[in-house]
Amino acid sequence: MNILILGSGQLARMMALAGYPLGLHVAAVDVNARNVVDPLTKLVSDKSLIQALVEADAISVEFEHIPQDLLEQVNATGKLKPSIESIMAGADRVKEKALLSGLNIANCPYKIVTDINQLDEAVVQLGEKLIIKASRDGYDGYGQWRLSSVTQLAELKLQLSELDLQKVPLVVEKMLCFERELSLVGVRSANGEIAYYPLAENLHHQGQLHVSVAPAPHVNEALNQQAQDVFNKLAHALGYVGVLAVEFFQMGDQLLVNEIAPRVHNSGHWSMQGADTCQFENHLRAISGLPLGATTVLKPTAMINIIGCDDFSKDILSIAGSHLHLYGKTVRAKRKMGHLNVSADSYAELGKTMQALAQYLP
Ligand code: ADP
Ligand code: MG
Repeated sequence: MNILILGSGQLARMMALAGYPLGLHVAAVDVNARNVVDPLTKLVSDKSLIQALVEADAISVEFEHIPQDLLEQVNATGKLKPSIESIMAGADRVKEKALLSGLNIANCPYKIVTDINQLDEAVVQLGEKLIIKASRDGYDGYGQWRLSSVTQLAELKLQLSELDLQKVPLVVEKMLCFERELSLVGVRSANGEIAYYPLAENLHHQGQLHVSVAPAPHVNEALNQQAQDVFNKLAHALGYVGVLAVEFFQMGDQLLVNEIAPRVHNSGHWSMQGADTCQFENHLRAISGLPLGATTVLKPTAMINIIGCDDFSKDILSIAGSHLHLYGKTVRAKRKMGHLNVSADSYAELGKTMQALAQYLP
């Protein structure tokens, strides 16, 4: 079977790697150049985009920020999974909030701002500690601004005055003091079968994911059920097929949805070593109409992102249970270059192993 992925970064690469043993051939589309590339070598194919769209048995995405005309062109083939509505909801925070509110899914208090002066109302409504997010094209904390005191408001308004908020509104959120961040990665097949990975606990730094631990420790049945209920509501409402990730903030015993990602997700990378079937394989299985694979956890596993560097010692692999996944990218500040997965028999062991790993990473 031929699978075509819109986007040619590390997620397409890891899907390609997972596809080989199943006889699934994964090609990727560079959505800027609009050409077809090999997700492993990045070599441009002599196949045209049109040809690849015709030959593909299923088409999916590795990220949600796909130019609208391309997304519509692909959707017209009838092969796009998940649905175009799912991808658009993940790409546009205004649509995402409408989806969550429409389904009565608890999320972060917010205000949509289409005129810079509405920021004053946002402060009145939500308080002076705010996180301001461009409704489109943000990722890894890019396209976000923080307000920690009303005294910074004038300067922030000046800074944002160049944005066209009629075209790309801001979603202004109350800065929450949550206990921790969790995410649920799950997968739904075309016939409605659902499999969930356990909740992962995620540590972010400056808006970017650094570490995930799965299964998240101290998760009771009620918390787990809340997360799965949210997943089910979203997956059913969207007629979802494939892997869907839901990011949560835990406030006491309540989960608030932060955002959704209609694709394989960084907080699911641990599953490459820690689960029976990894998220990449399960996404391919779902969009190809194959039975889903078991999501059973093998061992507690941590995923550590390697960010902005590639000059660490490969002796890191001498640490028992560690596995390195490099993406073959050139180094840039804040760029995700790869990740390490490390598994252990217990959380205590995992903690020790992570300390040992930290010595190798800058
Ligand atoms: P991105 O698309 O860049 O992942 P997110 O909305 O997930 O954007 O924000 C990135 C990170 O910023 C979150 O994982 C969280 O750590 C922090 N963050 C986002 N929204 C809030 C909020 N309302 N309150 C506190 N922290 C937040
Ligand atoms: Mg996020």
